[in-house]
Amino acid sequence: WSKDTIAVVTGSNKGLGFAIAQGLALKGVTTILTSRDEQRGLAALNSLKKDQKINPETLHFHVLDVRSPSSIQNFAKWIETKFNGVDILVNNAGISRNDHLGNPTVESSKDVISTNYYGTRMVIECLLPFLRSQSPHGSRITNVSSATSRMDSLRNQAVVQKISNIDKLSVKTLYKVAEEFIEDVEHGQLREKGWSGIFGAYDYCLSKLLINAYSRAMAWNLPKQGCKIFVNCMCPGLTSTDMSRNNGHSAQAGAETAIWLALLPASESTTGRFFSNKQDVGF
Ligand code: NDP
Repeated sequence: WSKDTIAVVTGSNKGLGFAIAQGLALKGVTTILTSRDEQRGLAALNSLKKDQKINPETLHFHVLDVRSPSSIQNFAKWIETKFNGVDILVNNAGISRNDHLGNPTVESSKDVISTNYYGTRMVIECLLPFLRSQSPHGSRITNVSSATSRMDSLRNQAVVQKISNIDKLSVKTLYKVAEEFIEDVEHGQLREKGWSGIFGAYDYCLSKLLINAYSRAMAWNLPKQGCKIFVNCMCPGLTSTDMSRNNGHSAQAGAETAIWLALLPASESTTGRFFSNKQDVGF
């Protein structure tokens, strides 16, 4: 890895994203911080530039709102023009609606799913043509997920079956699962239908379950198209950030697995897996 390696981290103006960007920059790779808000992003960039262990020339910033198709397209154009490719994409941006824990509304559920699943997917789909799948290292997509969303926490066996069948798993199936969930929110049937709701975060768990399933499907299909892109998910563990209301270990500790996955040598890299504490813990 060198400064010719290009890494992008979404939602890196604060929290885990900032710590992941910092960790990658400390390893000497060219790191692109992104934020939906220009001022917050530039403030993060400037604070990283003060770190004497980081070469400031390897740090860059661009606005990226994962909910906005035009923002994603502008970002992709900028990447193409300025760097002509990406080696490492860490999809970290995410939200949880803590104010709706245990009782999500249709509106709050759509909000969470739109950012954590549809937004992340849009970023991946738009940047995919620029991922350097032919480089000796292969390129990597790491999706920051949550262990609260693994399949064994879901009691709804019909849904488990739909997303387990990797051969038939498609974005259409995942769309139908999301719609079924929204219907059950509307009818107040989340518990009866066995949706996963650890800490009451039903919509958050579903959004991460969807991105996990999408990642598995990508990891299954990309090699068939001759693309050497390693796609994995990871859980940072309970990490002290705004999202967790400052509970848990440091953002630097939470970022470790994502940084490790991004920089694994190709010979040790793997795809279609879920990691926690640098261990494959299964989906
Ligand atoms: P924070 O709330 O501290 O940070 C979330 C980041 O995502 C912020 O930079 C935020 O930007 C950004 N973001 C939100 N919406 C968008 C958007 N539409 N476009 C671009 N960026 C956006 O949370 P964490 O650092 O804790 O969370 C990072 C990731 O880790 C999330 O995916 C979360 O689900 C996951 N995670 C966190 C855990 C924890 O214990 N903290 C545990 C398990 C998983 P802004 O500042 O503008 O809001």
